Amino acid sequence: MKKYFERDDEMEKSKSLQELVWLCQKIGRKIDYVQGGGGNISVKLDSQYMAIKASGFRLDQVTEEDGYVVVDYQRIKSFYESVNISVVKDYEKESLEIAQKSVLSFSGRILRPSVEVGFHSILDRYVIHSHSVYANILTCSREGRQLCYKIFENRNFSLIWVPYINPGFSLTLEISNQLRSLPAIDKRPKVIFMENHGLVVSSDNLKEAYEVHEMVNLLIKRWFKIRGRYPSCVLKQVGDKRYQSKTRFILDFIKSEGFEVDLFEKYPLYPDQLVYINSSMYTENPKIEIDLPRGTVIYNSTYSEAVAIDETLLAYLYLITKINKFGLTIKSMSRNEMEYIKNWESEKYRKEILKEFAK
Ligand SMILES: [Zn+2]
Repeated sequence: MKKYFERDDEMEKSKSLQELVWLCQKIGRKIDYVQGGGGNISVKLDSQYMAIKASGFRLDQVTEEDGYVVVDYQRIKSFYESVNISVVKDYEKESLEIAQKSVLSFSGRILRPSVEVGFHSILDRYVIHSHSVYANILTCSREGRQLCYKIFENRNFSLIWVPYINPGFSLTLEISNQLRSLPAIDKRPKVIFMENHGLVVSSDNLKEAYEVHEMVNLLIKRWFKIRGRYPSCVLKQVGDKRYQSKTRFILDFIKSEGFEVDLFEKYPLYPDQLVYINSSMYTENPKIEIDLPRGTVIYNSTYSEAVAIDETLLAYLYLITKINKFGLTIKSMSRNEMEYIKNWESEKYRKEILKEFAK
C-alpha cells in the first residue's frame, strides 16, 4: 500500500484507512451482522479513490495492511451513469472488467474488490453492507416490505427497498435508478433493504453510518421483541480437516420437527446460503454431514471454511425459526435466481480465496 500513501495527502488517507478498519472490525465481529466472507464495507478516501474490502476476506480480517483494495470509484461510477442497456451486451462481464481495471495495483498479490463494489461506488462516503439476520427477517419474508415502512415510519433517513435482483451489475443498476428518484436536496443517510440479501447503510459521516446501522437493527429487534444474545458458534476438531459443530442452536434445530434434509433446497433464502450451504451439501462428497439419528453436524473442510459454513448455517436456521415464529411467510429465491448464483464466476473466486486462508 505504501506507494499510494506516499503522496501529499498521506495523513488524510491513512485516517480514512483507520476508519475503514474500525468499521470492519466493529461490524465484522458480530456474526448476527455478517457470516463467513459475507458483507462488505468501504470508505471513500478522496474524490477519486475508495478503499473496499477485498473479495474472499472476512470483514474482521481487514487491517491497514491487508484485506482491502483501493479502486478508482469515479471510473466505476461513470460506467453505471453512462451505461446504455438497450444495447445487447454482457454487462455483467463488462462491469467486472471495469471493476478489476479500476483497482490500483500494488506489489504483492493482486486482490479483487468485493463483488458489490458497484453499489459502493455510487453511494455516500461510508458504506456498510451487512447480511444482518434481523434485517433479513424482513428481506426474506413476503410481509417484509410493508413491515419495513411501518417499523421505520418516523425515520430520519432515506429508505429504499430493492426487490430481489441478480447481484453484481443488475443490482447496482437498480440501486442507481432508485437513488436517482430521491430528491437531490435529501442529504440524510441512506438505508437500503435488499430482498433475499441484506442491508446497506451509507452516510458521509462515519459515526452516523455506524449509528444508523445499529439503530436499524435495534428497531427491528424491538419490533419483534427479540431479546437476549444471538447464539455463538462453537466448533470442535474431530480429525484432519474435520470439525464438529457444537453450536447449540443448530443442533437443537436439526432435532426439531421443523427440520428436513431438503430444507435448504426448498427454501433458498439468499445467495450466501447457496454458496456456503447448498453447494457443500447436495454434492457427491458433501462438506456438511448431518447425521440425524446421532444429531451431529460435521464439516469436512478447513477450519476457516468450517467457521464460515457454521455461521451461515446458524444464520439460516435462525431466520427460518424467526420468520415462522413471527407468523411471516418465507419468501425464497426462484429456481432461475438460484441457477444464476450457482454459475456465478465471482462466487467461485470468493470461495477459492477463503480456502487459501487455512494454509
Ligand atoms: Zn451482500
